[in-house]
Amino acid sequence: MYAPMSMADVRSWAARPVRETAGSGNALTVDVEDYFQVEAFAGRIDRDAWDSHECRIERNVEHILEMFEAAGAKGTFFTLGWIAERYPALIRRVAEQGHELASHGFHHQRADRVSRTEFEDDISRSKSLLEDISGKAVRGYRAPCFSISARNLWALDVLEGAGYCYSSSIYPIHHDAYGMPEAPRHAFYPFAGQQFLEIPVSSVRLLGRNWPSGGGGYFRLLPLSLSLATLSHIRDREKRPCVFYFHPWEIDPGQPRISGLPLKSALRHYTNLGRTARRIGSLLARFSWDRIDRIFPVAEA
Ligand SMILES: [Zn+2]
Repeated sequence: MYAPMSMADVRSWAARPVRETAGSGNALTVDVEDYFQVEAFAGRIDRDAWDSHECRIERNVEHILEMFEAAGAKGTFFTLGWIAERYPALIRRVAEQGHELASHGFHHQRADRVSRTEFEDDISRSKSLLEDISGKAVRGYRAPCFSISARNLWALDVLEGAGYCYSSSIYPIHHDAYGMPEAPRHAFYPFAGQQFLEIPVSSVRLLGRNWPSGGGGYFRLLPLSLSLATLSHIRDREKRPCVFYFHPWEIDPGQPRISGLPLKSALRHYTNLGRTARRIGSLLARFSWDRIDRIFPVAEA
């Protein structure tokens, strides 16, 4: 069992330098889930009803693959087992095009709302399925909603034990639904003497706190120039790789609208969907992107 953390432990996380690929590369990541599977809709759409919704994942992932290919970019696709089970040919295409396949769990269950055994089953099942489909080792995991934080650090222990080499699940910011602002902003080794890596999505330090700059709702809601400026700051001033993420449904303004959502959820989900593909295009043109496992070399599973 992972020992409870003291602040001294957390501070020690940043002490050991992480091996990063030299150069200007950044990690581009896609969380492969469909619009009806997002956490904000969980109160409206039961998991048992997922199959009754029009699935748009295939066309949206194809669109992403075309954008990446045109830009000469590679990325890491954190994929739900539920999606992989229904669209194995799509998942194989992602791997065949040279992108990294990683796990986003099987059913998009938050890691802080399940037992240790349920978590272990979920991450092992999704890993084996993605490996069976692609024929390649799956080394990475991203918890739905960045749901690993000070409350459930045992999850890192379970991931390491299940053969994962890295996680990208702790977001070192304040947010109403997730976050561990006291964690390091850049990749770190959470276990002394081990190679297992935690690779947070990008944030910037300003006015005494960490602000998100690695994608998600912020990328759609705030001006593109702000994301470009903060990512450039991390690259040019801090000399560290950026880690960016987005979802296939974020480039799909034609997705069916879900009714009866709380206003905040609806605003967060639907604002600027029609602009996001173009914004991703700007990021692809401005920065150089690669798979997480090449930007942060990870040990063999
Ligand atoms: Zn997700």
